[in-house]
This record gives sequence, C-alpha cells and structure tokens, in this order.
Amino acid sequence: MSAGSSIGVDVGGTKVLAVRISVEGTVQDVATRPMPGRSAPEAEVEHAVVEAARAVSDGDGAAPIGVSAAGLVDRAGEHYLFGAHLPWRDAPLRSRLAEQTGHPVVLENDANCAAYAELLLGAARDVDSALLITIGTGIGGALVLDRRIVRGANGLAGEFGHMQVVPDGLACECGLRGCWEQYCSGRALERVTRVALGKHRDGPEVSRMALDGDDVARQAFATIGTWLGVGVAGLVSAFDPERVVVGGGVSAVGDLLLAPARSALLGSLQGTGHRPVPDLVPAALGPQAGAIGAALLARDGRP
Ligand SMILES: [Zn+2]
Repeated sequence: MSAGSSIGVDVGGTKVLAVRISVEGTVQDVATRPMPGRSAPEAEVEHAVVEAARAVSDGDGAAPIGVSAAGLVDRAGEHYLFGAHLPWRDAPLRSRLAEQTGHPVVLENDANCAAYAELLLGAARDVDSALLITIGTGIGGALVLDRRIVRGANGLAGEFGHMQVVPDGLACECGLRGCWEQYCSGRALERVTRVALGKHRDGPEVSRMALDGDDVARQAFATIGTWLGVGVAGLVSAFDPERVVVGGGVSAVGDLLLAPARSALLGSLQGTGHRPVPDLVPAALGPQAGAIGAALLARDGRP
C-alpha cells in the first residue's frame, strides 16, 4: 500500500483508463477496461469505472479517486449532465461512484483534468495562460487563465468541439450539425480517409500509415490539421493565450497534424506580423493526461 497515493479514472468513448499516482504525481500503476459503449446501461459503465479503480488501488481503501469524464459535468462536480459519447444523463455520478467504491470521489470534465495535469506537470508548467485541445474520438477543450481553469457560470466552459464551424454541416452525435469535432477528430480522420481510399481504416491505422509515409493518410492529417488551426485561431482571437497545447490520441503523429495547424492558425488570425502568436505545442503527458489530472484533482481537491 502506498501512502498518499491517489487514483484517476478517465472514462472515454472507447476505454476506461485508471492510474494510481504517488503524492508527487509519478504514475505507479495503470489499468484499462473496455468502455461498454454510449448506449450501454449507466450501471454497466459505472461497473467498469469501479473495476478499473480497484485494479490500481493497491489495497488502499482511503485513496481518493478522481473521475475524468468526456462531456458536461456540473459546476459542483456532482452531476454528469450530458455527453455525446457516454450514456449518463443528469446522473448524480459522483455520489454513485463514492457509494460503489467506498472511496472519496471527485468528478471533473476530461479536458479540465488533462489541462490540470499539463498545468502542474506538463506543457503548460511555465505559462500563466493556455488553451488545451484534446483530439480523440471528438474534441475536448479547456481554457486556463492566470493558472486557473475557467469553468464558466455553470461549469460548462471549454466545450469547443461543439462550436458550429459549418452552418448546416455534418451531423454530430450531440444532435447538432456542423460542430468543429466533425471536421477535426478521430472520427473526422476516418471519414476523410474513407472518402479518399474508398474503404474504412480506423484512426490508429491511419496514424501508422501516415508515420510510414502514406500520402493519403498524410493528406488526411493535413486536412484535419487545417481545421484544427482554423478553430484554434477563433479561440486565440477570443482569449489571447500564451500557449496552445494539443493532446489526445490523434495528436500522436506530431507535426503531421501540428504543422498544417500552425499554418492555418497564422492564416486565420488578425494582424499576424504585428502581434504575438501563441506556440502550438504537443501535450507532454500523452494519453494518460486525463487520468493523471483526475488523480491530481483527487489529491488537491477540486478547485
Ligand atoms: Zn456536436
């Protein structure tokens, strides 16, 4: 049993990832469970969360658990309200998981968790303001100003993936049309590749093909990278951050995504050449950022 450790569980569209971290933030153990699916019963997904947390708990029944969930979490961190990729609707998720695990639980939006981890331990350690964009199944976002996560009046700020970028555009799982994440996400990457190749390749396959030099896959990354830069330019115009940190599984190809994004950012921002333009950099903590951030929030208390 490790004294002072905390647990973070990230509930994403495809898997449940749990970590245990030391009091200094070092990852000590990792476990994953399949995500039962967005149409699965709520209890089944809760069971996967509890199992993943147990797998890393090292017998420490007092270790606080942070739960990182994609979608809308209320400002108090009590209710999961809505998410395109998870089944809960207006559910008192924090208290349910506290009851089922017997551990203290904090609940937070996944991008806010990842931003907290990058702020304390990662790519935003040395700046006061940053935008965090995570590109996975969809887009997650968080805004840090004066080293604090901006939550908005209801805790719902940072849902950048569902800003409409194309009026009457592609249908989104959230029920709207033309959302940014329909043009810049793992799903978008698969769609663009399918149109070009005439057959399906899943996101990780397209990433491997691009890293191996495949032209179609590289062009698909250039397309979604351009959409990334265009969307980021709007956010930079609104918030003027010092740095833009890009994480999530889709960003693992690095500059194949980020170089077209940087050039679209420059081309879509007012007054370039006469103003500072924020660096657009990869996240430092990789695919565990959400779970690590959740564990750090469990350690520190939700600010
Ligand atoms: Zn949407």
